[in-house]
Amino acid sequence: MTSARKVHIKSFGCQMNVYDSHRMADTLAPEGFRETPRAEDADLIVLNTCHIREKAEEKVFSELGRMRTLKEAAASVGRRVMIAVAGCVAQAHGREIVRRAPTVDLVVGSQNYHRLPALIARAERGGALVDTEFPIEDKFGVLRPPSRAAIRARGVSAFVTVQEGCDKFCTFCVVPYTRGAEASRPVVKIIEETERLAQAGVREITLIGQNVNAYHGQGPDGRAWPLARLLARIGEVRGIARMRYTTSHPRDMKTGLIAAHRDLPGLMPYLHVPAQSGSDHVLSRMKRRHTRADYLDTITHLRAARPDMAFSSDFIVGFPGESERDFENTLSLIDEVGFAGAFSFKYSARPGTPAAEMPDQIGEDAKSERLYRLQAAIDRNSAAFNARCLGRTLEVLFEKPGRHPGQIVGRSPYLQAVQVMAPQSLIGKIAAVTITEVSSNSLFGSLARAAEAAGD
Ligand code: SAM
Ligand code: SF4
Repeated sequence: MTSARKVHIKSFGCQMNVYDSHRMADTLAPEGFRETPRAEDADLIVLNTCHIREKAEEKVFSELGRMRTLKEAAASVGRRVMIAVAGCVAQAHGREIVRRAPTVDLVVGSQNYHRLPALIARAERGGALVDTEFPIEDKFGVLRPPSRAAIRARGVSAFVTVQEGCDKFCTFCVVPYTRGAEASRPVVKIIEETERLAQAGVREITLIGQNVNAYHGQGPDGRAWPLARLLARIGEVRGIARMRYTTSHPRDMKTGLIAAHRDLPGLMPYLHVPAQSGSDHVLSRMKRRHTRADYLDTITHLRAARPDMAFSSDFIVGFPGESERDFENTLSLIDEVGFAGAFSFKYSARPGTPAAEMPDQIGEDAKSERLYRLQAAIDRNSAAFNARCLGRTLEVLFEKPGRHPGQIVGRSPYLQAVQVMAPQSLIGKIAAVTITEVSSNSLFGSLARAAEAAGD
């Protein structure tokens, strides 16, 4: 399989899927597959799917309808197109996907995508294939690393998966079933991957995992290293100027990790730490293992460690049994913390999870009404946070050309997009920018002083 063929990979859901899609592309590249952004041009289409809410799952099946049309159009001119479903829907539904969508040639679970080249070769010989077993081999040990060109094309900020799976079993969540038990990658492997990225020009690393702050990978000394120690080591990699990690569970925000926010200047002062609810009654039924007071206490400690810290969260509205009063406690938590941003979701009953069996499910209208009020509270807090940035000087990592000629755009420490009139030569570099204007989804600013390339 050496002639140039094209693969189109479409990611649904979280950053872990974006990362996995990149690794699939890297693993298919030596097999002669070049990536294409156009599904119409592809010989192989991979849908890397998300199962977290019902809507995410439905999207996959409607997309498969579109892909079937493409496949039939290609077949009518004698061209073969293969369709693969990967990720969490693949893991959860396996062969059922082929029954519902016979156009699918291959179903590959979230832990098996390193086997893609072999599976594609087998599926090409005929018959739909399904591989959703949890493998014994470590997929990270088998996956091909990205080429320098692929790293450059993906930009100056990169994800590195350090941990997968989850043992927490919150009562609403499918992750422990689709991604399996929690497992951390060894430190040495993560550093090798980070060094390769840095050598190709990456300046910012976001460590990712479903429960990233539960990280406990084996260190070079043979002992389990906590996330704080891993971050300190990554901060020593030449060229890496910024570090982030996501997604964190409030219960795993341990003292050492809080101290890392004080001690590591490269660790960005913006943390995604999902609260889910501000009501103890709901938190307990969600089996989150923390109270509202615990959550607020963690925020206080983080702010004491680093006073310019800002926070984002996930919230679920309409969890079974959530009363108006419970919901108001969530609204008051949002104001009390003053989140700079947050994602909000209507509770979606997932088959096989304990909450789906709870008797006091909330109606769709009440969920919609609460979501509307929740989003208004989040927007208000986020606008207030952005407004407080006016006149401040923030370090911006420039990523690409901006919306208008002469502009470039980058990210502030708080992940805000910042548009600046500045030379393109600053892309990939960090410069101090004074914020002069704030709009709903961008900040605008001017260079505060001559750019310095951090880490160069
Ligand atoms: N591990 C993270 C944590 O503990 O907060 C969450 C990971 S999950 C992939 C991302 C978000 O999806 C969750 O924080 C939660 O808000 C939301 N979510 C998960 N299951 C959900 C469900 N059944 N209905 C609605 N939202 C859900
Ligand atoms: Fe899901 Fe996060 Fe709870 Fe794990 S900790 S079960 S990933 S919500």
